[in-house]
Amino acid sequence: MFNKILIANRGEIALRIIRSAEQLGIRTVAVFSDADKFSPHVVSADEAIHIGASPAPQSYLAFDKIIAAAKRTGAEAIHPGYGFLSENADFAAACEQAGVCFIGPPANVIRTMGSKRDAKALMAKSGVPIVPGFIGDLSNEGLEAEAEKIGYPVLIKASAGGGGRGMRLVQSGNNFAAALLSARREAKSAFGDDSILLEKYIESPRHIEVQVFGDTHGNIIHLFERDCSVQRRYQKLIEEAPASQLTTAEQEQIQRAALTAAEAIGYVGAGTVEFVLDERGDVYFIEMNTRLQVEHPVTEMITGQDLVALQLRIASGGTLPDQSDICAAGHAIEVRLCAEDSARDFAPSIGTISHLTLPERRYRVDHGIAVGLDVSPYYDSMIAKLIVCAEDRAAAIKHAIRALEQSEVAGITTNRDFLLRILAHPNFATARVDTHFIDRHQCDLLVAPPHPDASAIVAAVLFLLTSRSQPGNVISSEPNSPWHRRDAFRMNLPNNEQVHINVDDVTQVIAVEHLEDGFLLKLAQTSASCFVDSLNGAEIIFRMDAERFSARVVATGARMDVFLGGRQYVLGYQDPLYAETLDDAAAGGLAAPMPGVVLEVFVEVGQVLTAGTPIMLIEAMKIEHTITAPFDGLLNEICFKAGDQITAEGIPLAVMEPTALS
Ligand code: ADP
Repeated sequence: MFNKILIANRGEIALRIIRSAEQLGIRTVAVFSDADKFSPHVVSADEAIHIGASPAPQSYLAFDKIIAAAKRTGAEAIHPGYGFLSENADFAAACEQAGVCFIGPPANVIRTMGSKRDAKALMAKSGVPIVPGFIGDLSNEGLEAEAEKIGYPVLIKASAGGGGRGMRLVQSGNNFAAALLSARREAKSAFGDDSILLEKYIESPRHIEVQVFGDTHGNIIHLFERDCSVQRRYQKLIEEAPASQLTTAEQEQIQRAALTAAEAIGYVGAGTVEFVLDERGDVYFIEMNTRLQVEHPVTEMITGQDLVALQLRIASGGTLPDQSDICAAGHAIEVRLCAEDSARDFAPSIGTISHLTLPERRYRVDHGIAVGLDVSPYYDSMIAKLIVCAEDRAAAIKHAIRALEQSEVAGITTNRDFLLRILAHPNFATARVDTHFIDRHQCDLLVAPPHPDASAIVAAVLFLLTSRSQPGNVISSEPNSPWHRRDAFRMNLPNNEQVHINVDDVTQVIAVEHLEDGFLLKLAQTSASCFVDSLNGAEIIFRMDAERFSARVVATGARMDVFLGGRQYVLGYQDPLYAETLDDAAAGGLAAPMPGVVLEVFVEVGQVLTAGTPIMLIEAMKIEHTITAPFDGLLNEICFKAGDQITAEGIPLAVMEPTALS
C-alpha cells in the first residue's frame, strides 16, 4: 500500500479521498488554487501545495504543476477524483512517465472509453447492446442524411462529451443543421474536439448504471446498479441504489452487459457503465466513465464497501474481493445540493456562505464548504451531497426529506426546496421516474418560493428588535441611560414603533408595541403577543401567543434568510432611513449574472431587438447562459466580444435603449 498520495482535486471529493486514505494510514497531499486558499480540503490534508490561479486550466487542470507537486512531496500516487483530470488519458500517461502511479485505469483504456465513438464501436463488437445511431465521420450534410435514416427525434452528442455538454436533442430535420453547429461549437470549446455522433433518442428512458471494478490480476466484479434518472440539463440531481422496479431478468441483463463491457476493455480500477433503459425494458449502453462517480456513496451505503479504499488497494497491486462477497442491503438515496436557482433555469449562484447547518451527525453529508467561504464562479455548483440509507425506498425518501429540511445555507441560492419538492412528489414516491421527470412535472416543481407564514415574519421582526439591543449593537455605554434602551421608549406614551419588512416584494409595515417582557406585533392578518426566550447568534427561540418556535435568522445587508420548520424564507428588511431594497441590484437584465467567459455574441450594435432576443452566450460554472434582451429596444453598445472574460458579477454586458412608444 502507498505511504503518501496526492489528491488532484478539490471540495467534497478531495475530503472524501482524504478520509479513506487516513483510515488506511496513508498520508495525503492536497493541491489548491487561489480561490481555494481557505478551503477545508487544504486544511484536512497532511500537506498542501498551491498550484496556481483560480481558473482550472491554471491550477486543477495544469498537470505539469500537479505532477511536480507529487514529485516534490514524495507522493507515490495521484488520485484524480472526478471531473478535472480524472478522465484525461494524457495526464494518466504523464503520471506513468514521471514514475507516479495514476489511481485509475491505464491511459489507453481512458482514451478508448473517453471517446463515445470508440467506446460504442468496441461495445458493438463485444455484443453489448448500444443505442442505434451513427458513429462515422461525415460532412454536416452527410450527417443530416444519417439522422433522417435513424429517424427523429435524434440526439447529437459530442464524442468527447461529458456532463451533458455538446448534446442537442433534435426533433425534426428543420432544426438539425443549427443544432449540429451549436453542438460542435460547444464541444470544441469544452473538450477541444468537435467530433460528434448521432443516436436515436430514446423517448422516456431511465438512466441505470452499474458500478464495476477491475484489478490488475484480471478480476472484474460489479457492485450493483444505481438509478440516476432524475436529471436537469442531462446532469444527475438525485441518485439511488439499487435501481427500483427492475425485474430480475432486467437486473441480470444489465449486470452482465456491464461486466462484458469492462472485460472487453480489460478494465482496471473503478468504473461505471451507463445504460438507458427504455419503456419496453430494453437496455442500451451509452458510455463508460473511467473514474469514481459523484454518486458512488449510494453504492457504498448498500454494499458496505469503501470504494476509494478499493481503488487504492487495486492501484497498489491488491486483489478485489470475490463477486460472491459483494452483497447489497437496503436502499440509499443521494441528493445533490447545488448553488443554483432552479426557478431561473438552474442558473448557478455565487456568493459567500453566511450561514450553514448540515445534518452531519445524523446523515452522511459529503461536502467541502464552510461559513465565510465563497462559492466561486470557477468550479461547478455542487456544494454538498446528502446521502441516506434505510431498509426500503419509502423510508429512504423520508430520511432524504428530513436531511434536506435540516440543511440550511444562506448567502447563496440553493436548489434545496426544489429537491424537497421532487422527493415529495407522488410520482417520485411510486418510482414513476424517467429522465424527463423534472420537465414533465415542472408545474409542480418549479413553483415560486413559499409565501412566508406569519411565524417567519415574526421571527424576522423579533430578530431585528432583539439583536439591536445585544452587546455590540447598543449606542450608549451607560446602562441606565434612555439612549441605551432600544425599545422605542417615549416619554408618557406606550413604546411603539414600526418595522418595515419586504415579503414577496411587498413592504409590510408591522406595528410593534413594546411590552414589559415582550412585544405585541400587529401583522397584516393577525396580532400576536411575542416573547423571545433566547437569541444566540442566528438562533432565535421565541413564543408567538401559545406556540413556541425555533428559527435561524441570517441578516445580510437588506436580505434576511429565515429558516423555520424545515423551510427557508427570504425576506427583506427595509430601514426607513435607507432607500436600498432587496432587489435593487438585481434590476437591469443586461448586467452579468456572474463572472465568466463570453462564448458568442449573436447581435450587432444598431440592431432593434425584441424582448427575449438572444444577445450573447456566456459560460460560468461549466454552464452556458444566454443573455437576452429584457425589453424591445435599440442595441446601443455591446461591451464584450467572444473570448472575453467577464471579471465580476453585475458588469454591464450591453446597453439598450427602450423603443419609444408611438
Ligand atoms: P455525458 O457524457 O455528457 O454525461 P451521456 O451519454 O452520459 O452524456 O448522457 C447523459 C444523459 O443523457 C443520460 O443520463 C441520459 O439521461 C440522456 N441520454 C443519453 N443518451 C440518450 C439517448 N440516446 N436517448 C435518450 N436519452 C439519452
